[in-house]
This record gives sequence, C-alpha cells and structure tokens, in this order.
Amino acid sequence: MEPKTVPIPSVIAIDGPAASGKSTVGELLAGRLGYLYFDTGAMYRAVTWAALTQNIPLDDEGTITALAERLSIQVKPPTVDDGRQYTVLADGVDVTWQIRSPEVDANVSVVSAYPGVRRAMVHQQRQVAANGHVVMVGRDIGTVVLPDADLKLYV
Ligand code: C5P
Repeated sequence: MEPKTVPIPSVIAIDGPAASGKSTVGELLAGRLGYLYFDTGAMYRAVTWAALTQNIPLDDEGTITALAERLSIQVKPPTVDDGRQYTVLADGVDVTWQIRSPEVDANVSVVSAYPGVRRAMVHQQRQVAANGHVVMVGRDIGTVVLPDADLKLYV
C-alpha cells in the first residue's frame, strides 16, 4: 500500500489571547514553512498610528472608519535587519517601530472595537490569505476571518 501523504496546509490561522505566545509560534511556523508571517494586530496598530498622526480624535468613529477603509497597510518580511519580526508599511511609509509606541498601545483597543474598522481589516486579511502560504495570527482569525483555513490552531 502506498504511504498516505498529507498535504501541507497553505493557510494557517492561529488564534489566542494577548501574551499567549501565538506570535512566537506563528513566526516559527512561518519561518519553517517559508510562509509569510502575518500578525493582524499590526494592522489595527497601523490604523491607530495613522489616526494619531493625523490628529483625528479617537472618538470620531466615522472619520477613523473612513481612514481604515482608505489606508493601504502592508505586512511583509523584514526589509531591515534591526530585530523586527516583519515590516509594516502604511501608505508606503515604514511604521514598523512607530506602531509599538506607548501612545498606540494605549489607544489601539478603542480603534479596533469600531465595527467598520474591523470590517475593513478583515476584508484586507482575507485578500492576503487568498494568496496562500501564510500564517495569520490574531484573536479572531480562525473564528471570524478565516473559518475555512486549512489548519486552525488555538494557543
Ligand atoms: O497583538 P497586538 O497587541 O499587536 O494587537 C493590538 C491590538 O489590536 C489588540 O490589543 C486588539 O485590540 C487589536 N486586535 C484585534 N483583532 C486582531 C488583532 C489585534 O482586535 N485580530
């Protein structure tokens, strides 16, 4: 009998709460498979960074939603060897370190709670996943964003 070969999943979703280690697992797995490591938290951080930079009041849901809908966010393999896990571009600007500021930390949960912001991010995340060869990480990835992922892990 021929040995059964199991195909390597192309789209891998990793969910888990903050500080669960999901990003560590995701990065290792993506590195082993040669896949893109896509941390969805970086997208919410990029929108928050852009809102702060443009002095948009954080309680202005309409303007922040419109910003999320038009902002081009890219998460790519590191472009600079400075300890980063990945590079984040917002409208082409490298914001990889700016999105880790205490100001972004303090405000990202408000921004990420806006339904229109989530809709815009989920739409972009699904487009990235459609290309395959990706490990996508976040609290809602296997449940909401990619319920049909080839492999779903909960950390
Ligand atoms: O994982 P990280 O701390 O970078 O995520 C930043 C914030 O983005 C989270 O605290 C959460 O508010 C939001 N987030 C989210 N959904 C995701 C990923 C992150 O709401 N899939």
